[in-house]
Amino acid sequence: MPSITARVSDVAARRLLKAASVGSVVELGDFRLIELVGPDLAGLEWHPGDKVRFRVENLSLRTYTPTRWDPQTGSTHVLAYDHGHGPGSTWCAQLGIGDPVQLLAPGRSVRLDQLDAAPILVGDETSFGLAQAWRHHRPDLSPAAERYEVTSSSQCAPVADLVGIDATALVERVDGEAPDLADQVVDLVRANPRSPLCLTGRAQTIAGLRRRLKDGGLGSGQTLVKAYWDVNRKGLD
Ligand SMILES: Cc1cc2nc3c(=O)[nH]c(=O)nc-3n(C[C@H](O)[C@H](O)[C@H](O)COP(=O)(O)OP(=O)(O)OC[C@H]3O[C@@H](n4cnc5c(N)ncnc54)[C@H](O)[C@@H]3O)c2cc1C
Repeated sequence: MPSITARVSDVAARRLLKAASVGSVVELGDFRLIELVGPDLAGLEWHPGDKVRFRVENLSLRTYTPTRWDPQTGSTHVLAYDHGHGPGSTWCAQLGIGDPVQLLAPGRSVRLDQLDAAPILVGDETSFGLAQAWRHHRPDLSPAAERYEVTSSSQCAPVADLVGIDATALVERVDGEAPDLADQVVDLVRANPRSPLCLTGRAQTIAGLRRRLKDGGLGSGQTLVKAYWDVNRKGLD
């Protein structure tokens, strides 16, 4: 029998959250491309780069980035990374076709549609969904440049291929850090002075990159910044 917490959570969730179900799941190594469908998803306002929060257990919500949204049919996709340390990871790894899903309506995060030129995208495994959202939004305009710190380039290869990210954009971490990332990003910003810069992914990496760019007198143009996760926190919104 469900606990009182679970039953109270169920009642609250039914009132506050939208309902959908899993239309399809594509397994790509440590990633899942998850299609969600349902009438509650129709007619909602969504901008490329917006976030969605999913109910992953009781009242715990975890945040993901839709790669596209069809308000006519009521369907969307997310590209979720199973890093293996939290309820969001467990949830996305276990989802199967037809499973019910509850979510909050899309909310503002990184407004890709407000960028006036092709961006330099910098992030990590959690940013691949955003990279795909850009490509769906502007199929005519590739990112000016991209770099993603990743734990394993070989594990990321299938998803990078799906999104259209070149293997040279993946920078492997060594002991949790990608030592070359900051140098590479500084060079890219110097080489593309008019490109907007979009920083997402690990909070600590973003903080380090911003310091390096500031020290180099760079990064003062159009910049979008959003931490997707933090080594010392859970469930960033
Ligand atoms: C606006 C926004 C958009 C996002 N979009 C996406 C997306 O499209 N796809 C996607 O996969 N993720 C995305 N994320 C990141 C995702 O929400 C986090 O990775 C989240 O922490 C996952 O929840 P969890 O329950 O697995 O881990 P939590 O319970 O939140 O954290 C448990 C532990 O895992 C660590 N952790 C969290 N994320 C990672 C990671 N990526 N690698 C290693 N350790 C980690 C935490 O630091 C913590 O120590 C987004 C986050 C935000 C804020």
